[in-house]
Amino acid sequence: MTSVALVGSTGSVGTQALDVMGSDPDRFQVVAIGAHRSLDLLAAQASAWRPRQVAIADAGLAPRLRRLVPPGVEVLAGPEALAAIATEADVVLNAVVGFAGLPVTLAALGAGRRLALANKESLIAAGPLVQDRRATPGAEIVPVDSEHCAVHQCLRAAGPDAVSRVVLTASGGPFRGWGPDELESVTVEQALAHPTWSMGPKITVDSSTLMNKGLEVIEARELFGVAYDRIEVVIHPQSVVHSMVELVDGATLAQLSLPDMRLPIGYALSYPQRLRSPFGVIDWSRLGRLDFEAPDSRAFPCLALAYAAGRAGGSTPAWLNAANEVAVDSFLSGRIRWADIAAVIEETLAASDGAPLRRVDDVLEADRRARERAGDEIDRRAVVV
Ligand code: MG
Repeated sequence: MTSVALVGSTGSVGTQALDVMGSDPDRFQVVAIGAHRSLDLLAAQASAWRPRQVAIADAGLAPRLRRLVPPGVEVLAGPEALAAIATEADVVLNAVVGFAGLPVTLAALGAGRRLALANKESLIAAGPLVQDRRATPGAEIVPVDSEHCAVHQCLRAAGPDAVSRVVLTASGGPFRGWGPDELESVTVEQALAHPTWSMGPKITVDSSTLMNKGLEVIEARELFGVAYDRIEVVIHPQSVVHSMVELVDGATLAQLSLPDMRLPIGYALSYPQRLRSPFGVIDWSRLGRLDFEAPDSRAFPCLALAYAAGRAGGSTPAWLNAANEVAVDSFLSGRIRWADIAAVIEETLAASDGAPLRRVDDVLEADRRARERAGDEIDRRAVVV
C-alpha cells in the first residue's frame, strides 16, 4: 500500500487524483489532504477518505473545518499547514496552483519523499533550491505534467546519455492559427475554452498564450538536465502524442494516450509500477490523423520570453513566473487584455537583475519584486471601465 499526501486536493489535479486512487483502493491510502480555502469540498473529501490529517492554508476557516471533519481527523491550519502535511507519506502529490506550491515542494523533497509534481511553478521559480533538496536521500521527483511524464516514461527506455533532443508537444490552445490582429480582442471566455484538456483557469490561460509551454521548457531543463538548445516545442493539436525524446542514433521515442490527466497522475502515484486499469485507451480505427507544426512565435511571444528567462537563469525564471501569475490574474479579472499578458511580462523582465538564488528568501524577494513591478505595469495598462 502506498500512502499519499495530496496537497491541493480541491483543484482540477487534486480531484482527479482522488478519482485515480478510488479506482484502486487496495493500492493507495490517502493519509493527508490539504487546500487553500475550498472549505466545503475539502470537508467532503475528508469525510469520504478519512485521512489522518487535513490542512487548510486559510487559518480563518479552521474552526468551521474542525466542525465539519469526522472525529479523529487532525486539522492543521495556517500558511505552513500545507507544507506540514507533505513530509510523512510515501508519495506527496503537489497539486497546488502557482508559486504558492513552493513550500510543499521543498518540504517533500527535504523529507526525502517521492514528489509527484503537478506544481511546475515551484520548480521554475526556485530551480537551484529544488535541485538542492532533490539530493536528499530518498527524494525523487516524478512529473505529473503530461509532457514531462511522457519524457520520464521515454527516458526509462534510454538513459540520459543517449538523449539528443527533447520535443515537447503543445496543443496550441484555443487560439492556434490566430494572427496578432485577431488576438487583440479575445475574451476571458474564449481563453478558457481549451480544445483538448480540461484544466484549472490559470493553466488554461497559460495554454492560450503558450506561456504554459514556455514554463514547461524550463521545467524540462530542471527535471532532465537537458540544455535549452536541445529542448524543442512542436504544436500537436490532437494532444495524443504527449512528448518525445530523440536519441543520439536518430530514433524517436514518444508516449501516446488520450488527453486525460488521470494517466500521468496515476503514473506518478504508482511509479515505478503502472496503474492497473486505464482511463480510456486509443481507438486507432477512429484516431484519424496526428498533425505537427511549428509554433507561431510572433503571435505567441510568451514562448520566447520563457526560453530567454530560462537561459538567463538565476532569479529570472522566478520573475517570469511571478509576472505571469499577476498578469494572468489581471486578465481573468478583466483589468488587462489578453495581448497585454506578454507585454506585462516582457516589461517586468526588463527590470530583473537575474541575481543568484541561494536561499528561499532570495526566491521570495525575487517573487515579491517581480509582482510589484508587474503590478505597476498593469496599472499603466489597465482597462478603464
Ligand atoms: Mg503540461
